[in-house]
Amino acid sequence: MQRTHSQEIISRARQLMPGGVNSPARAFGAVGGDPVVFTHGSGPYLFDVDGNRYIDYVLSWGPMILGHGHSEVTSSIQAAVQRGTSFGAPTQAENDLAELIIEAVPSVEKVRLVNSGTEATMSAIRLARGYTQRDLIIKFAGNYHGHVDSLLVAAGSSAATLAVPDSPGVTAGTSQDTVILPYNDVSVVEDAFHRHGDRIAGVILEPVVGNMGCVPASHEFLSTLRKLTEHYAALLIFDEVMSGFRVAYGGAQQLRGITPDLTTLGKIVGGGMPIGAYGGKAEIMDQMLPNGKVFQAGTLSGNPIATAAGIATLKILRDESIYVELERKAADLAAGLQEAIGGADAHVARVGSMLTLFFHSQPVSHWEIAAQCDTERFARFFWGMLDRGIYLPCSQFEALFLSTCHQDEDIRQTVDAAREVFAGI
Ligand SMILES: *Cc1c(COP(=O)(O)O)cnc(C)c1O
Repeated sequence: MQRTHSQEIISRARQLMPGGVNSPARAFGAVGGDPVVFTHGSGPYLFDVDGNRYIDYVLSWGPMILGHGHSEVTSSIQAAVQRGTSFGAPTQAENDLAELIIEAVPSVEKVRLVNSGTEATMSAIRLARGYTQRDLIIKFAGNYHGHVDSLLVAAGSSAATLAVPDSPGVTAGTSQDTVILPYNDVSVVEDAFHRHGDRIAGVILEPVVGNMGCVPASHEFLSTLRKLTEHYAALLIFDEVMSGFRVAYGGAQQLRGITPDLTTLGKIVGGGMPIGAYGGKAEIMDQMLPNGKVFQAGTLSGNPIATAAGIATLKILRDESIYVELERKAADLAAGLQEAIGGADAHVARVGSMLTLFFHSQPVSHWEIAAQCDTERFARFFWGMLDRGIYLPCSQFEALFLSTCHQDEDIRQTVDAAREVFAGI
């Protein structure tokens, strides 16, 4: 497959933008080589500048659950543009999207719209700290919550669980208000609460992780977090920026039957436009300005175009049969990929229409295991699939997604390609 135009555009882009990209996940750093440059998408397909077609399993890293260029979403956006692109003042559409979110997500009684998932998590942890008047936040290794300073942390080397910066520019002082623990480990989190319980403002986690590949939380882990946070009067924050409207219409909290105090949303809730949201119990949300004292604001928050895209998307997704059909197709894809793997040291993990082919023989339940995956073999798999017109996330530690547009024939082609690729890697 020829990609010479992509390569030319990327080499120019590298002179203009760091790494040639506006978000490092796109740079193909983990697989080597040049990113593909696209011109347009249609349904489950993306088309690059060299005229190649790909079946898209990245879906803009999650948002495009209805596929590219869905007619109702596109016409809602066009109608909104005609009315004006931003007012910085209330609109009816904000009520409409808020109502859809509150109706869908069990924990959300009140919500605030922001512009990205990062803003949502940043605001939710500020609210948790303001509400509880405590400083510490617990997060889990391998969970990603956007590029919020105090969440860009890594486990320290000492026995102490306080975190250290995971990026230059994050200060030691900031990182020290975060405790980082292994995912799915009940006894470690119990111990952290026994030691620091009266200082912990909240626990933030992806209830189904997408950002170390697809890794579900065990029921015991989620129910322990719920009990501990209640006992110590800390807030449980589900970061459902990826899992919200993805693993079920009401997110992982609906699927797993555990209700957090606060929820963060993004990706699908904006229907492909920049939106984030955070919400939860009214009593907690009312601590935000202007009702309360916790500050958070945004010039473009509740933007009419992004809001229109979100409303159109959620109105379509409200039909639960969509998730039944996504589940069936995703199960077919997972079974097909598992069969293509044959005897290789790899397996497919899946929750709903989120899945990851891990190059590891054991189930992945936390970051220490994920980190042992054969990432070089993954890279060979990735390029083999790309050359057969299958666009997968360019890292072992990302989930791939299905849209309502992927047809059985697309899945069959994908599985055939995987079988061929596995024969050669
Ligand atoms: C993508 C993601 C974020 C960050 O959202 P942005 O819109 O990229 O800022 C936060 N949390 C989770 C779980 C995500 O998947």
